[in-house]
Formats: sequence, C-alpha cells, structure tokens
Amino acid sequence: MSVAITAYGVACKACVGTQGTSGFGGIINVLVWVLAASCIIVLRPLETHAAKQKAVRKEVSTKSIQSNSAPTRRPVGSPTRNALLRQPVQPPFDPSDKWERVVIKSRPGDNFGAMLTRLNVPQGERSLWERSIRRDIGTRPIPAGKEIHFYFAKTIFSARTGPGQLKAIEVDDSEALALSWERGIRGILFQRRERPFDVEVKTVGGVVDASFFEDGRKAGLQPALLSQLADIFTWDIDLEKEVRRGDTFKILYEQRSRRGQESKPLLRILAAELVNAGHKMTAIYFEKEKGQGNYYNEEGRSLARSFLRFPLEFSAITSHFTESRFHPILKTNLPHTGVDFAAQRGTPVRAVGDGIIVEAGWNGGYGKAIDLKHDATYMSRYAHLDRFADGIQPGVAVSKGQIIGYVGSTGRSTGPHLHFELYKDQQYVNPLSVDFPADESIEPGLQRLFESQMRTYLVELGSVPQS
Ligand SMILES: [Zn+2]
Repeated sequence: MSVAITAYGVACKACVGTQGTSGFGGIINVLVWVLAASCIIVLRPLETHAAKQKAVRKEVSTKSIQSNSAPTRRPVGSPTRNALLRQPVQPPFDPSDKWERVVIKSRPGDNFGAMLTRLNVPQGERSLWERSIRRDIGTRPIPAGKEIHFYFAKTIFSARTGPGQLKAIEVDDSEALALSWERGIRGILFQRRERPFDVEVKTVGGVVDASFFEDGRKAGLQPALLSQLADIFTWDIDLEKEVRRGDTFKILYEQRSRRGQESKPLLRILAAELVNAGHKMTAIYFEKEKGQGNYYNEEGRSLARSFLRFPLEFSAITSHFTESRFHPILKTNLPHTGVDFAAQRGTPVRAVGDGIIVEAGWNGGYGKAIDLKHDATYMSRYAHLDRFADGIQPGVAVSKGQIIGYVGSTGRSTGPHLHFELYKDQQYVNPLSVDFPADESIEPGLQRLFESQMRTYLVELGSVPQS
C-alpha cells in the first residue's frame, strides 16, 4: 500500500496566541532590553513549523472568572479552511504588535514580587501586580523551573527608560489550566482558563496493496488513527479480513496538542472514505452537542451501535478465534463459549456498552474477571485479566468504551489474552455475529448544519491524492 500524507503550505497565521510579534526589530528591542534587565530568557518562537501545517487554530474554552475584552481574530486560509476551523478562536491575549513577550524560568523559592524586581518593574506598579496576584491565588510559592510569560508594552527602548509598561502575566497552572492577569481599563483582570490547543487539520490517503494494518503502519499511519478507523466502520467491514488489494481510503483528521506537550497529540478522525471492492463507505464526525460527537454516513444515519464490536482496540488484537475447543490445560475437549483475543499483557480492556458492574473478582478458571450487566437483556464477561482499572467494583456504573481492566493470563490460561463472552437473555451468543440496530440519526432540525459540515469535509477529502 502506498500512503501519501499531505500537508498544506499555508502560513501559520492563526498560530498567534502567545507569540508576540515577529521581525528583527522586535528581536533587537527585546535583546537590548534583556541586556539591561539581565539574566532573563527571551523566547522568540520561529514559525518554522508553518510549512508542514495544513492549518492551525487556537481553540480555547474559557472558564473566566472575569471576562476579558474580545480578542482580535485574524483571518486564516481559504474560505473552506475557515469553515473547517469553525470553532471560536480566542488567543489568551491580544496578539497585537504592541506587546513584547518575555519568558522567565522561576528559581527555587521564587515569587512574583522577586521576578518583577528582576524585570525592573517600578516599585509602585510592582505592588499593584503583587496585590492582585495575592488576592487571586494567595501566596503559594512558584515551583522552580516554571515558565512565566510577561507581556510588556513595546516602547523605544533605552537604558534610561527601561521596559514598557507590564500588560499581562501568564503561567500554566496544570496540564489543562492556565492562569493569567491582564491590565485593563478597570484594573488587573484575573482569568483561570483551559490552556488552548493548537489544532492542525491533516489528510492522509492511500491504496491497499496487501494488508491494511501492516502496510498502513509501515506507511506511517498512526496506530491511533487505524484503531479509530476500525471502530468507525466496525459494523460495516472487518478492516483486517475484508479489505482487498486495490481498495482505497482517505482520512481527514485533526491533531490537537497543548504548548509543551507537542509529542503526545490527541488525534481524531473528522471524516473518512473507504472504497471496498467498488463499494464506497463514508463517515462524517458530527457533534449534536459540544463534545458529544458521533460518526454518520452521508444519509445522516449513525455508524455506531449501542455496543462496541470489540472490547480491545482493534490494532491491539494480535489474533482472535472462537473455535478453540481443545483446552490446553485440561487437555480435553470442552465447549468453548467466548471469543479469545490474543493481545499483550496490560492492553486496556473496554466495556462494550453502558452498564453496571455486577462481578469484579476471582472467578475460578476465568481468573480475574468482570461481569457487566447492560440492561435486562444483555450481559458481557471479560476474563483472565491481569488487573482491574481503578474504581472498578460491583455496583459501579461504566460507559461504553470506558477502560475497565487490563489483559492478563490469570485463571486457566496459557498466555496473555482476553476471553470475552456475551449473553442475551442468559444464553451465550457469538459476539462477532450479533448485529445491533443503528442507535440514532441526525434529527431534521440539525440536518442543514450536518449537511454543510459534510460538504466541507468532503471537499477536503476530495483534495487527497490517491496514488
Ligand atoms: Zn477463551
């Protein structure tokens, strides 16, 4: 299979949230100023990553304590691209050319007052900021080595006049939260907000030559995307067994990462098209409510069922079989009720549907096992587990896809695998042959929104080269 990962050469105009200004004038100003202030780190992010990004948006959902003035929004890319990046863009601060950013790493036992002193902020101003910060977060010490971002008004720098007025301070409080203070007309405003994600929208496409999974991985398709694709089309096609030579696929996906965590981005397929033996399947990601997304076909019918087809991520399964009747330990033929999925020890096991844990403990030959009751009709069992996930015990409610345990080899088992059973009205059924009805469709009220989003995604998919 040959896979082409495409990227767009659009300049990274949207990625302006915290980057201050560009150009040599700004750099020289800051350098001069830094020499005057001494021992300060200045970061001038270069936009070298722009060339390989298709488009970037800053996405912030604010949980403001006091609202900020509306930041300016800069136009990005083509009209289609703008529609794609439809979510509101809100950089932490007005990224106008009037501000310079200075980044300081805190020393052991450091506090904001000491930093402001090192930055030569005049006494009167310094106590104003200190009072504000104390009021908002108390006097807790700053851990050593933390990056604090200071934003100053740009002025004509000289040793005599020193830095411009301090306009804002920003610090990451945790992986997800940032704290910021900004000088406004009515004093210094404090915000605690979610840290913005950099979101890149990318495409990938290819033609299957041999096996979808092996060739896909060789070609650089991330396992997370392969797993998502298998899950999306799980009820329509077995990507391992049914995809044939000459079949084609196109994927549009987004990659989110937070500053400082670029190495572990979150990936999500936005749209996918699979042509299997001339039959085209399409999946469109759509959120009926914010954060509540699902995949639909072009007619707006959900591709998901109320149950997942596999309790393991598809790419983690090394083999699955249902016919193993000769028991390797008991050396006898036993009716085997269940599907065995070979996978590495420690592979996360997912609840196949919403339900209540009825058993989580040692269960004879099953070893460490979980029984999950979904409703009056269906029950599922997960056996030979290495351990349970945190908080998994009888009486606990879990949701579809939630990790409930990890693959092991406890009980009568010869090697790490998951033994999975599904019961309907207390009768064992083969989970691989049960088909559940589609669980929902797009309501008439959302049809137009869905269709316009679908058109945008399909245009993007249409631009993916297929070679
Ligand atoms: Zn088994």
